[in-house]
Amino acid sequence: MRRFDYIRPASVPEAVAAGQHPGTAYLAAGTNLVDLMKGGVATPERVVDITRLPGLSAIERLPDGTTRVGALVRNSDLAHDPAFAKDYPMVAEALLAGASAQLRNAATVGGNLMQRTRCPYFTDAVSPCNKRAPGSGCAALGHATRIHAVQGWSAHCIATHPSDFCVPLAAFDAVVEIAGPDGDRAVPLTDFHRLPGDHPERETDLRPGELITALRLPPEAADFRAHARYLKVRDRTSYAFAVVSAAAALTLEGGRIGRARLALGGLALKPWRVAEAEAALAGQAPSPEAYAKAADAALAGAEPTGAANAFKIELARRVAVRALTQAAAGTPARIPALPASPFGIV
Ligand SMILES: Cc1cc2nc3c(=O)[nH]c(=O)nc-3n(C[C@H](O)[C@H](O)[C@H](O)COP(=O)(O)OP(=O)(O)OC[C@H]3O[C@@H](n4cnc5c(N)ncnc54)[C@H](O)[C@@H]3O)c2cc1C
Ligand code: SF4
Repeated sequence: MRRFDYIRPASVPEAVAAGQHPGTAYLAAGTNLVDLMKGGVATPERVVDITRLPGLSAIERLPDGTTRVGALVRNSDLAHDPAFAKDYPMVAEALLAGASAQLRNAATVGGNLMQRTRCPYFTDAVSPCNKRAPGSGCAALGHATRIHAVQGWSAHCIATHPSDFCVPLAAFDAVVEIAGPDGDRAVPLTDFHRLPGDHPERETDLRPGELITALRLPPEAADFRAHARYLKVRDRTSYAFAVVSAAAALTLEGGRIGRARLALGGLALKPWRVAEAEAALAGQAPSPEAYAKAADAALAGAEPTGAANAFKIELARRVAVRALTQAAAGTPARIPALPASPFGIV
């Protein structure tokens, strides 16, 4: 039995003060952290339970049209919030494509952003892993790499980020609100998750002891509500992480694409958003050729880590084209019963 301190602060400043102790982990719903602690993968000396903190559970519309979502809002509550689902159906669709109903009922917004990779060598506490034990090596290199990265990987880590939710958030320029010992700050979601480089152990822009307090969606994100889809391809229709996914959103003006947003999941240690792919769509008539050009731009530079994951590049290209095709056809009035399943009836 590994001992750790358990602290339940009553306010955000108290939580941040408690979080300054080295080896602290914040505990939200625990659907990821507790699993990793049980497996000896996460070994915090101190666990700071944030679940009772006041002020982090609201979904608010600010006067300028920004939507602000508290870090403790549950995934299900956000996906089923009528105003949120109406304005950001692609985000709701991604949330409902994740995990299972029971997990979504518990899992929080902050925890989803901070969930760790599903690389099986990371979760196996005895395998070498530069992310878990810096400098120990990467057991995934040269081994089974089917779910591993084809974009942005390094010789030190080839893992992917598993979140569905973060993919449309990246497409919509979401911003992460953070509280820390030096005050509050805000970071664009696209800069929040880090590529592995030489330091795969540094996963996010969060500094030691900092706490996510909220997420902001800018007013422009709602402009895409009529043409926005999240498409997830996975090994099972439910209760499985994405092999590849795509968040595609368009505005259509006079039969042409006005603005476009495209981000891909399952390819890298962060949602993969490429400005060139979006620029390739702007001003074009919606067509398979235009989507294929954008998908090519999004996959430019993609490289498999071995024969086992080479298929992901072509799969991602097709998923991007299909998500754009579905987005152009229009957001369905209701999110399909099997959300974004490649086999579902749309
Ligand atoms: C079987 C299974 C299947 C799943 N399938 C999917 C899937 O298909 N798609 C998908 O997207 N997700 C999936 N998930 C992951 C799930 O969404 C995450 O476990 C969940 O979102 C984490 O939220 P939590 O509140 O439980 O976080 P916790 O487990 O409490 O915390 C996770 C991490 O975040 C940190 N943390 C939590 N809140 C904060 C905060 N406010 N500030 C700073 N750090 C914080 C914790 O310290 C910890 O490191 C699955 C999980 C399981 C167990
Ligand atoms: S790919 Fe990354 S997470 Fe997986 S074993 Fe290698 S270093 Fe660890």
